[in-house]
Amino acid sequence: MGLKETACPLCGSIQRRVVWRDVPLYQWKTAIHRCRECGLVHVSPRLAGAELLRQYQEPESLRRFLTESYVPTLPAVEEFARAMLRLLRARAPRGSLLDYGAGLGVLAREARALGYDSIAFEMSPVYGEIGRRHANSTVEHDWTLAERRAPYDVLVSTEVVEHLEYLSDFLRPLSLLRGGGLVLLSTPNFNSLARFRHGPRWDAVAPDGHLQYFTAATLTEWMRRLGVRPLQVLTWGPRFVDERLPAPLLRLLGDPPGGPTLVWLGRKM
Ligand SMILES: [Zn+2]
Repeated sequence: MGLKETACPLCGSIQRRVVWRDVPLYQWKTAIHRCRECGLVHVSPRLAGAELLRQYQEPESLRRFLTESYVPTLPAVEEFARAMLRLLRARAPRGSLLDYGAGLGVLAREARALGYDSIAFEMSPVYGEIGRRHANSTVEHDWTLAERRAPYDVLVSTEVVEHLEYLSDFLRPLSLLRGGGLVLLSTPNFNSLARFRHGPRWDAVAPDGHLQYFTAATLTEWMRRLGVRPLQVLTWGPRFVDERLPAPLLRLLGDPPGGPTLVWLGRKM
């Protein structure tokens, strides 16, 4: 067991500069870098392969995490899911929807109530078990079932892409989306005020599982390479950010500014 150096997950370059060094990762120290070629912020060295998967798949610790840390946040998860669905409905008021990395399946549950034919997918059966008990939801863990119901009109993936060991892993769900279908992503916003304020102590900095940190620009560049063009990019979080900051600071933070969560909506070409 140990950490592994990695090139930029987006463009493969090894030209990078350190954003933060000596970031604790279990008994080791790692660093967060920004790629000099494409700008993607990423962890290197990092956990890899089975060591990485063990974070997510060991049933007892996952069950404990979901019950103790995730279930209490369900009201906020529901509020976020409904906001995401409002965004989607403006462009795709009905159709089939795959939520990839669906957590306890709240968004798919809410989508079904709105008339979407939705399916929630997670890698571990523990999500389905906890979802049934605490969220009145259904979460599938059999990928062949998700495949059989393809193609989808909408692919949703919230708080997933920062975890991917290889960004190309996202081709698996994306290949099930029909041409012209919508992609809705959310991920921690590296250009958020919270990141500027807290630096390496920002709560999204979690190098055991969060391997890459996107901005609007890098998320758009990655999606462009996968053949998905942007329709709408915004941030979710404290609303005051947009209203109270002086314009020069907003420009510095980039567009969209501020909020801790980046929300990205695009269309597969
Ligand atoms: Zn790069």
